[in-house]
Amino acid sequence: MNNNYLLSHRKEEPENGILYLVGTPIGNLNDISQRALNILKNVSLVACEDTRRTKKIMNKFDISNKLMSFNKHNSSIKIPKIVKDLKEGKSIAIVSDAGMPGICDPGEDIARSVKSEGIDIICVPGACAAITALVSSGLPSSSFVFEGFLPKKQIDREKILLEISKNEKTTVIYESPKRLRKLLKELFESCGGDREIIVARELTKRFEEHIGKNIYDAMNFFREREVIGEITIVIKGISKERDFVFNKTDLRKDLKELIKAGLSLSAASKYLAKKNGIKKSLIYNMNKI
Ligand code: SAM
Repeated sequence: MNNNYLLSHRKEEPENGILYLVGTPIGNLNDISQRALNILKNVSLVACEDTRRTKKIMNKFDISNKLMSFNKHNSSIKIPKIVKDLKEGKSIAIVSDAGMPGICDPGEDIARSVKSEGIDIICVPGACAAITALVSSGLPSSSFVFEGFLPKKQIDREKILLEISKNEKTTVIYESPKRLRKLLKELFESCGGDREIIVARELTKRFEEHIGKNIYDAMNFFREREVIGEITIVIKGISKERDFVFNKTDLRKDLKELIKAGLSLSAASKYLAKKNGIKKSLIYNMNKI
């Protein structure tokens, strides 16, 4: 292997006219890279979600540089200014409150705008809560779905919950502590209590916890306990085999209930087939077994 590749970068950083998306810690301040510190120290300007938070990092590492507030409330005013500065040759770092800018924070908007102006973007990678939770969950992690925060609108939310319930891949979700119980209940209703899940709380911090074996366990854990701190949820996908067993038992029960309620076998099968996205004949024939 060519070691020079590992030790050097294409040019001395930061370069003029480049937007740097700089990953910062999600709790433990020691999780910042030397490269990130060099960028924060030497760019023309650091645009950050919360200047007090970023100052904390800068102070810990004895860095002083010009800070500018850049968040979802002022991004429409600040983006044109950042684009103008970059075109004039300044180097700018974007730092979010925690983790990777662009993952569920305004870093996404600035990256899109800057790219559309033909300006180069370079990412200085750092911690990300989704990846940290995923790899420490012990659940399949090489192929996964990241949903960020679920939508608030009920119809959109139900659509995603249904997708999660059928997904064969691991799903990662962000949630606020205030809404965790509601989300667990919704997951229970859509995926069943025995679906494997890990609720990762306060990752990289002093009181880091990885809670649950399955949805039922996690619900029980938080039933009596105040939910505080930052939360990321990792849900195992379904395995085809298990899904078949789960569906067969549940579907047979649903079928019986619908027929008891007065629907014909054909109508009940049609309804359940549509609801579960499977062939009508599979359900129709189930009644005969
Ligand atoms: N850009 C960030 C990243 O790369 O992870 C995420 C920003 S998003 C606005 C904040 C959400 O990330 C939190 O509400 C929580 O769901 C998750 N999160 C951030 N830090 C976390 C931590 N230390 N432990 C668990 N989840 C965390």
